Amino acid sequence: MVGHKRVLLASPRGYCAGVDRAVIAVEKALERFGAPVYVRKQIVHNIHVVTELEAQGAIFIDEVDEVPEGAHVVFSAHGVSPAVVSAAENRGLQAIDATCPLVTKVHREAVRFARDDYEILLIGHDGHEEVEGTAGEAPDHVTVVNSPEDADTVVVKDPSKVVWLSQTTLSVDETMETVRRLRERFPELNDPPSDDICYATQNRQVAIKKVAQDADLVIVVGSANSSNSVRLVEVALEYGAKAAYRVDYVHEIEQSWLDGVETVGVTSGASVPEVLVQEVLDELSGAGYRDVEQVRTAEEDLMFSLPKELRQDASGRRDGRALGGRQSGGRAGA
Ligand code: SF4
Repeated sequence: MVGHKRVLLASPRGYCAGVDRAVIAVEKALERFGAPVYVRKQIVHNIHVVTELEAQGAIFIDEVDEVPEGAHVVFSAHGVSPAVVSAAENRGLQAIDATCPLVTKVHREAVRFARDDYEILLIGHDGHEEVEGTAGEAPDHVTVVNSPEDADTVVVKDPSKVVWLSQTTLSVDETMETVRRLRERFPELNDPPSDDICYATQNRQVAIKKVAQDADLVIVVGSANSSNSVRLVEVALEYGAKAAYRVDYVHEIEQSWLDGVETVGVTSGASVPEVLVQEVLDELSGAGYRDVEQVRTAEEDLMFSLPKELRQDASGRRDGRALGGRQSGGRAGA
């Protein structure tokens, strides 16, 4: 017999400032230049956002050589290596760089440490676009460290001149474990000048940790290729949720997940429009989980300017802000 059914809704959740900016950049590019606008890779890792933008005239491609010469191409929020920028230039493409400024910050760190001849241990997932972009800034200096276990075997040339950097969307706890193991082997390991794991990833993990302690089940809305969404499932399980699942859409929720469940925790990754979370809440309400309590662990009001290529509107006025104050907005999905 299930007692009082309720939902604990994590906050912050959903859209971060970098995703908001990237999605708006594609929309503005379509408005300004007309369809089609090409986008290299998924603009953000969310299938719903990508599908909505495709419907508006965006064409997603894997590499810039698929873009007709002279056309507009948007680089995704995950960033690109200098090799991709050059390839676009060589093809005469009009590039719009929607790389999140917090990813660009890590690129700059990589460039700076490489210039000072450090060996860079980049903690992140091999093959992820962001890791490819950052590593591409200094390919001769970067070694990717995939996991804490990798830290036990990675080889460096000079242990007195090593620094670690990281992908922005990792588990904070797992990354600290990787660093601990690296430091055991390389006591002179240098830290990055500031956190590479971004504020949005950290805030969403802190919120779900609090929710997970009291949740029989946690539902994370987010796509399978969204690193920060997948991490939220792992963190929920580590912090006490009896079960945790990731779904792209509400119809993926299986009725059996709710068997015997009193408290459902709900959150969403940094690339997820709020409309998808609302659909999950509606479904839960229909199943008797009408009592929804927000669990807020931080306020977010960060916004980024649009990419410079889009800051001037057609009449010459500056269009500086990405958009006003949407912590978890649903523009692409709404
Ligand atoms: S998750 Fe972090 S690094 Fe990635 S786009 Fe959002 S703010 Fe930027």
